[in-house]
Amino acid sequence: VTLIDRAGHHLFQPLLYQCATGILSEGQIAMSLRNLLKRHRNIECVMAEVVDFDVTGRRVIARRNDGLTVEFPYDHLIAAAGVRQSYFGHDEFAEHAPGMKTITDALVIRRKVFGAFEMAELANDAARRGRWLTFVCVGAGPTGVELAGQIRELATHTIEHEFGHISPEDARVILFDGGDRPLASFGKKLSGKAAATLDDLGVEFHSHSHVVDVDDRGVEVRKREATSRYEAGTVLWTAGVKAPEMAGVLAKATGAQQDKAGRILVEADCTIRGHPDISVVGDMMALNDLPGVAEVAMQSGAFAARRIRHQIDGRGKPADAFKFRDFGSAAYIARYKAVVSFWRFGLSGFLAWVVWLFIHISFLTGFRNWFSATLTWLVSFSRGIRKERPFTIRDPQTTKDPYSDPRPIPQEGSKEED
Ligand SMILES: Cc1cc2nc3c(=O)[nH]c(=O)nc-3n(C[C@H](O)[C@H](O)[C@H](O)COP(=O)(O)OP(=O)(O)OC[C@H]3O[C@@H](n4cnc5c(N)ncnc54)[C@H](O)[C@@H]3O)c2cc1C
Repeated sequence: VTLIDRAGHHLFQPLLYQCATGILSEGQIAMSLRNLLKRHRNIECVMAEVVDFDVTGRRVIARRNDGLTVEFPYDHLIAAAGVRQSYFGHDEFAEHAPGMKTITDALVIRRKVFGAFEMAELANDAARRGRWLTFVCVGAGPTGVELAGQIRELATHTIEHEFGHISPEDARVILFDGGDRPLASFGKKLSGKAAATLDDLGVEFHSHSHVVDVDDRGVEVRKREATSRYEAGTVLWTAGVKAPEMAGVLAKATGAQQDKAGRILVEADCTIRGHPDISVVGDMMALNDLPGVAEVAMQSGAFAARRIRHQIDGRGKPADAFKFRDFGSAAYIARYKAVVSFWRFGLSGFLAWVVWLFIHISFLTGFRNWFSATLTWLVSFSRGIRKERPFTIRDPQTTKDPYSDPRPIPQEGSKEED
């Protein structure tokens, strides 16, 4: 089994916002694939970016970080490259409004959020101070709600006594959404509870509000016919998703159809029509309007693996069609406050928070991460302490491949890029 991943680690995305807001470290929510799979001697981990597919010759073409292009032959292929942030045709917004999909995103957000308080402390006029203390979150799905709640909570429960010239409690956190309520996918009742909790925290929720422009000083928002400007030192984007470039490349190579977000439409058994040797699973797969959530990813991945194993050694015949078992969903809003929806039941408040805690503890990858995150949460939730606050100031200004050799040596089965 060859596992090709450009990041080289497994990331538990549901806790990215805790890394961004200083509760957990990146090492507590992610784990090196090599370390994770070290007991499986028949798995080879390759850190490289898949850039093309030769489906006739059954080869995956990947680009390594030293610039070399390498080809991997396959008998069966599973594509599971997830999704990325969508700016709805305005990719230029990304420069000022980071999304939240990777560890890099979380660390950029950490720098922006904690750096904004530092800049507010140094500001010598009220307008600048006000801008630095204004945080805009775009999109009131689970990630936007979690981020907005966490920024208010750290301003009021963690750093409230640490500054000499500002009151962090004055931080204005504005959450914009084009719909009429936050956490709309949780249903009217739980969404109403979430709105009330956000209100208690001091988050300003603006419904029917579309962010139509973003620059380094704030956003422009259209609400019905009127357009307003909001000055903000920090803008965070969690409004939409689209499939990665790899989905387009695979669709072109196989003739597969893509949905509006670029996800690949698959047959009931998660394979691409006319290509029974290629499965697409997880967020990148479009099947029966299934949501882009971890349970769908894990179950479809396991289904594809069982299918392939059965073809190889006849063991454990899987069902003809992938059937998703929905175990519900949970969203954290603030300390001791969450919402959980399961089948026709809904929970909110402290009990929901306990369920949220249990779910997230049980799905963290690796015993060390599980143990240290649990200890960190005990301290953080009871005392409001956030230890993971350091951030890097700026990124190295280089476009060069990080490990490029001035004279790379071509290898067998490899060809140098033009
Ligand atoms: C902030 C956030 C919060 C979330 N919260 C929840 C939640 O509370 N509950 C829930 O159920 N779900 C949640 N989700 C969704 C859940 O994380 C995803 O559904 C799940 O991770 C999808 O798994 P996947 O394997 O399809 O994709 P991913 O987990 O995104 O994995 C894709 C992998 O592909 C690699 N990759 C991408 N392109 C290439 C390429 N060209 N070459 C090589 N490698 C490549 C990436 O490095 C990555 O490791 C959340 C997601 C985010 C971003």
